[in-house]
Amino acid sequence: MTFLNDVAQEYPDAVSFAAGRPYEGFFDLGDVHRYLDRFVAHLRATSGGDEARVRRTLLQYGRTKGIIHDLVARNLAVDEGIEADPESIVVTVGCQEALFLTLRALRRTERDAVLAVVPCYVGLSGAAELAELPVLPVENSAAGIDLDDLVRVVERAKADGRRPRACYVVPDFANPSGASMPRATRERLLELAEEHDFLLLEDNPYGLFHQAAARPPTLKALDRSRRVVYLGSYAKTGIPGARIGFVVADQTVDVGAGDPVPAEGGRPARSETLADQLAKIKSMLTVNTAPLAQAVIGGKLLAHDCDLRAANARETRVYQDNLRRVLDGLAERFPAGSSPSVSWNAPTGGFFVILTVPFPADDALLALSARKHKVLWTPVHHFYGDGVARHQIRLSFSQLTPDEIDRGLDRLAAFIGEQSASPRQGDAR
Ligand code: PMP
Repeated sequence: MTFLNDVAQEYPDAVSFAAGRPYEGFFDLGDVHRYLDRFVAHLRATSGGDEARVRRTLLQYGRTKGIIHDLVARNLAVDEGIEADPESIVVTVGCQEALFLTLRALRRTERDAVLAVVPCYVGLSGAAELAELPVLPVENSAAGIDLDDLVRVVERAKADGRRPRACYVVPDFANPSGASMPRATRERLLELAEEHDFLLLEDNPYGLFHQAAARPPTLKALDRSRRVVYLGSYAKTGIPGARIGFVVADQTVDVGAGDPVPAEGGRPARSETLADQLAKIKSMLTVNTAPLAQAVIGGKLLAHDCDLRAANARETRVYQDNLRRVLDGLAERFPAGSSPSVSWNAPTGGFFVILTVPFPADDALLALSARKHKVLWTPVHHFYGDGVARHQIRLSFSQLTPDEIDRGLDRLAAFIGEQSASPRQGDAR
């Protein structure tokens, strides 16, 4: 990813389908002050006018699990139909910290491992490496996961003496594949987690950017036995620069063994929640998430009655329009049956589309595309972690204007046409 950032900086006039960043057209510095004021007013109202307490909450070191956990819980109820105990929530420095804390807590012995659908979000594989937790790859499918392969991988791992602790999934508009899981797949996945005794780590940064009606419930909303650890991010729906994420970890953990025990198992003699464990690790990592940053996001939640779907109506429209423009633009530039043969998936939301091209797309080709054609994209091999170039590239359309999308697709079509006719033409370096 450092390489991708370097390429982007070297060619600032290139159109970038590479960065999966939120749209900047609605960024407003004034929001920061308004949201902060809104949160301070809320603190005053809930502190009975105790100004010292208001100042301390915002300006002093704070509660490790965060100060907006109650608002996050309300947001989850409003937007996702998830009923979460605020005490089971840890507010983190982005979802990325939540990922690391969770994997670190699950890593008890050398036998432990995490399952993940590949191609897999690099933030998960990076965090797993830091936590020294091997990632066991599970095949993808049009339904977001190949459940038969999942069972095979789990059984093989157990036969090898390993303990697959959890399976990491992005059920809504996965990064990079854009795939979403139908409801039946979600329900079956929950059953398999129960049958084979592993947790599900549900990462959901893009779930709100659905077409209004067609939205399956989150795994956590379907979860009846605390199998799901839910990882949230306000980077796409709040303000990315605030770096606020969170984790709902309501599993009961036996303090001695440190294994999450499902609710039905009864509480062991000495137990705490997984959230408490994560807080202990967090206290050694970032101490607590900046209260000022939490206050800004807290203010945004308050300003919108904790309904971020409504608050993001404009953003959702931009992302949906951009998605449609990319899909239509690809169909225009690569008509069915024409040469070169290029295909793509058709997600119904999110930030990403995967394009299948007639040549292996590696970092050298990206550099060539940037230099000669002034268009950037992400080679999908980065999400496999094995360095083997694939015939696939990820197109992210979230931060582009319609004109940039059109221009970028023209350039991309020229690049793909050239590579298909004469591989690596112009690659003089
Ligand atoms: N999970 C996925 C699937 C993502 O795509 C991203 C952001 N690119 C994150 C987590 C990271 O979220 P945050 O910015 O809150 O750390």
